Amino acid sequence: MDERVDLLDFVQNKMTMTNYYQPVVIKTLLTGGGRATREDLARELLLGDPDTLPSALRTLQRWPWITLRKRGVVERAPSSSDWVLRAKFAESDIPAIIAACDTALHAWAKRFPRKQASQRIRLISEAGGCCQACGARPPKVELDIDHIIPRARAKNDCVPKPGGGLMHVDDERNLQVLCASCNRGKRDQGGFDFRPSEEHLARAIALTLDIAASHGYDIDLVFNRGRSLHVTGLNLHVPEPALRVDATTAASDA
Ligand SMILES: [Zn+2]
Repeated sequence: MDERVDLLDFVQNKMTMTNYYQPVVIKTLLTGGGRATREDLARELLLGDPDTLPSALRTLQRWPWITLRKRGVVERAPSSSDWVLRAKFAESDIPAIIAACDTALHAWAKRFPRKQASQRIRLISEAGGCCQACGARPPKVELDIDHIIPRARAKNDCVPKPGGGLMHVDDERNLQVLCASCNRGKRDQGGFDFRPSEEHLARAIALTLDIAASHGYDIDLVFNRGRSLHVTGLNLHVPEPALRVDATTAASDA
């Protein structure tokens, strides 16, 4: 009962994997002399995630490298991709510099609460796990939460609310899911709202009718008891208010 398993035998023959977690944990424990804190294990799990490291490398290269190099804080080590500190500092100042970094991190964490991480996952799942502009999904693309009206355009952290008034720039009504390339394409221009809406549905149906007409198809729209819309054999389920928009579009198209 109390017999201890043979680790080599376990890893080579008995370990069944549904994810990459077990070998990461065993490696971390081994390199830590057989023991590790939960924080260390969690950190190694993050690093072991095949998606996390490439994405962290891209982030590293994009933001901190550009800014810190421009400000003369870091530079590239000669004939290497390593970074080195270029700024001068006294050995005796190191504890104070580290304390100041921790203060800055603490202030940042307070400004952007933890709930953001779970909110991010929820928004992505509500968007069907894909970019709301182009439909691309991971692992082909990275998904980001985008501010429809960018933070840079907010005044006192507030942006105009649809229908009047103001809302916080991080309000969910101002957030959408975009892939990195759609996000880059949009950059700091505000107002590109790619989320599904009645307006988008109406526009998509009108466009479909136009394309069909230009190819000589005579499309018949049948509104079935106010709940669904038949388009030549297609049965699209659309919510009631959207239907009214569609009906108008269809009517004005006819
Ligand atoms: Zn996209």
